[in-house]
Amino acid sequence: MNNIELITEPSRKIPVFAETGVLVVGGGPAGISAAIAAAREGVDTMLIERYGFCGGVITQSMIGTTAWYRYADTVDAEGIAKEFEERAEKMDAVIDVLGKVKNKDMVKTLEADGLMINGKPTFKILDTEMFKCLIDQMLEEAGVKVLLHCMVVDAIMEDNIITGVITESKSGRQAILAKRVIDATGDADMAHFAGAPFRKKPKHELMETTVNFGCKGVNIGKFLMYVYLNPGKLSDWGETADKDGFSTYLVEPFRKAQEAGEIRMMDNIKIESYWSSYTDEGEIISMDGIHLYNIDPTDVWDLTTAEIEGRKRVLDAINALKRYTPGFKKAKLRTIGTSLGTRESRKIIGTYNINEHEVRNQARFKDSIGICPEFIDGYGVAILPKKGRYFHVPFGICVPQNVENLLVAGRCVAGDKISHAATRQMCCCIVTGQGVGIASAISLKENVPSRMVNILEVQNHLIKQGVKVH
Ligand SMILES: Cc1cc2nc3c(=O)[nH]c(=O)nc-3n(C[C@H](O)[C@H](O)[C@H](O)COP(=O)(O)OP(=O)(O)OC[C@H]3O[C@@H](n4cnc5c(N)ncnc54)[C@H](O)[C@@H]3O)c2cc1C
Repeated sequence: MNNIELITEPSRKIPVFAETGVLVVGGGPAGISAAIAAAREGVDTMLIERYGFCGGVITQSMIGTTAWYRYADTVDAEGIAKEFEERAEKMDAVIDVLGKVKNKDMVKTLEADGLMINGKPTFKILDTEMFKCLIDQMLEEAGVKVLLHCMVVDAIMEDNIITGVITESKSGRQAILAKRVIDATGDADMAHFAGAPFRKKPKHELMETTVNFGCKGVNIGKFLMYVYLNPGKLSDWGETADKDGFSTYLVEPFRKAQEAGEIRMMDNIKIESYWSSYTDEGEIISMDGIHLYNIDPTDVWDLTTAEIEGRKRVLDAINALKRYTPGFKKAKLRTIGTSLGTRESRKIIGTYNINEHEVRNQARFKDSIGICPEFIDGYGVAILPKKGRYFHVPFGICVPQNVENLLVAGRCVAGDKISHAATRQMCCCIVTGQGVGIASAISLKENVPSRMVNILEVQNHLIKQGVKVH
């Protein structure tokens, strides 16, 4: 930017091409939940997504593990998250990795670990391609008007009240007017455009971004035997009470390739891979493997660098897997995520800001819009909700300061560093999404600003929609 002069963009009139009651910006786990919940309350609801499909990180980075934290004693949030799983199962859109385990001793071990109850897995993994179709169906059934391939680039403001958005798409620059707006962009784009305060750490302190990839041509039997003999541990990724807990964390092949000088070492890139699901056709669907640090996900040059550098490293990683991992000898690249996956960028300053103490100590709030199992993953902390512990998710973390009729859901809600490692999890993003969807709809019906909504009424409607509120 240094040598580029500023130019003045001439003012111009642009068409208003839609009006709606509730407008949700962003179609990730938070946004789809918000839109479905609002529409089910009977208000006109529209959802805008910049790509050609919804799902956010689930579909863009092939992350189907929305519920992998669930153990036998976990107390769960219920609501739309549960509906996603049930609907996916009905439409044969899950990958039942644990269900493939038939060996009696293995089943006993999984039951003892709390990952199976009476021989049935506690969770299944979403088929992330099928999830694109499932979400189309659920949005349509709820009556949400969906607009794809459309990027929101600004907020329309009357004083401090948001009254719509400016969009850019193949149809040009257009406006949408809305009585209530929900920011589910992950990056708090709307809060930023509307002038609400937010915080964004310096990029070297942000969580890493990741380029995910999948492989085909894998001899799954050989690979699983290797994993069985060389199991990853939860303690490989941070502070945990469960030091020997199993994790699908693969380090060895990449370390060997680095030692052999086959992968260029760089301070800001780490190649180590979680993997989640496989198919009988020899596919490992998603390898969460190329981690790029020092990337600002709101800077287009950084995003470009991360995508291109990430893809180079995907090829390095596949070579390392072929050379040093049993079962991968004939492996080939299957897919690269449609987009780099982002874990952290802007976070709003809310009317309430949740903190580490609260997510670690089962906090209770009067304005709870749902519960979140004590699942904390990030910054070297790895806590899984094995014992049924959970915290309340307060409405205040979704309410930005200074701007009216805007609510926020998903990973950009308000909170400190360690609380982000909990609220960024998809289960929590879905809770905040469903909560603000209903809150926006009710505030519209009651004709009060979003932040002034009757929270008891919101809680009643959440319970009617199947959410565990307390
Ligand atoms: C590699 C990786 C692995 C992960 N693994 C897990 C896991 O196993 N389990 C788990 O629970 N969590 C996991 N997470 C965290 C979790 O996936 C994210 O925190 C979560 O998806 C955030 O949801 P969201 O809806 O807030 O944002 P996103 O999923 O990022 O969705 C935001 C959506 O908004 C759209 N959008 C953004 N800006 C605009 C705009 N201006 N106009 C229009 N559309 C816009 C985007 O295209 C996207 O669809 C992982 C994250 C990453 C990156």
